Amino acid sequence: MQSLEEILEQAKSAIQSISDLKSLDQYRVQYLGKKGQLTEYLKTLGQLPPEERPAAGQKINAAKEAIQALIEQRDTELKKLQIESQLAAESIDVTLPGRCLEFGSIHPITQTFAEMRRIFSQFGFIFMEGPEMEDDYHNFSALNVPPLHPARAMQDTFYFADNLLLRAHTSSVQIRAMKKIAPPLRVVAMGRVYRRDFDMTHTPMFHQMECLVVDEGVTFANLKSLLLEFLREFFATDVAIRLRPSYFPFTEPSAEVDIGCLNCGGKGCRICKNTGWLEVLGCGMVHPNVLKGVGIDSERYSGFAFGVGMDRLTLLKYGISDLRALFENDLRFLRQF
Ligand SMILES: [Zn+2]
Repeated sequence: MQSLEEILEQAKSAIQSISDLKSLDQYRVQYLGKKGQLTEYLKTLGQLPPEERPAAGQKINAAKEAIQALIEQRDTELKKLQIESQLAAESIDVTLPGRCLEFGSIHPITQTFAEMRRIFSQFGFIFMEGPEMEDDYHNFSALNVPPLHPARAMQDTFYFADNLLLRAHTSSVQIRAMKKIAPPLRVVAMGRVYRRDFDMTHTPMFHQMECLVVDEGVTFANLKSLLLEFLREFFATDVAIRLRPSYFPFTEPSAEVDIGCLNCGGKGCRICKNTGWLEVLGCGMVHPNVLKGVGIDSERYSGFAFGVGMDRLTLLKYGISDLRALFENDLRFLRQF
């Protein structure tokens, strides 16, 4: 058996080299537990002559207490180290800049959609939607677009097989509306339309709003007054409007609508190309052929319609010069709205 001195020496260096509390606890069991080295040592007392037993017992107890004290000391040290490392790992540097909450913003086109809903709800319109993949009938022929009309040419419209295409205008929803609702009707349709174009003022996908009114006694004067109300409400200013004769297959008579330049107030500038006017939409009285085609008595009823590029209105409202900026998803740009 090892001498008590040896055991004590060994314990000193062993305890000092222990670096975690779990190992220290194992060590405690190894030396002081029921089957520990010192406990075993105590059991040998019985083999000693009776007169030697008290002195030997005292020595063993002293050794036991010494080891216990060493373990406790190491225990305190290790716990202190543990707290220190935890504090170092979890320290908060209060001089670091704070983390900001990111605020989103509503896309300018979505804002225009909401604005249209607000304005045309006030005027008593209902809102309808139609499919973006349309058939030739709703997109062209029902709108009095004859088979050889230039608008049907391949460079303008995206075609699929089987008479299907990506709608080139929201006017297709006019046909769906008139077939579904008998006059009188006031319908607005908003949504995506597609054409094969890409430059500063054209993108292959853009947004259009279509407005249709059919009733008895509807006149061009009603159209003009609605346009004036709508544009003044949308631009939140007393804009002037100008109607120029134009041609669309589905309206007769037809007109292009200009507004007084929002930038120069009509004096002439770069944006209005020195004309003082900005083109905003096309309109007209619904062609009798279109009414007849959907089974509406064109002798009794008349109607007007207009279609407006919502992207263009958005550009004008916010003074943006490049349409493509609306679709590039550059947050630096979008956050301004
Ligand atoms: Zn101008």
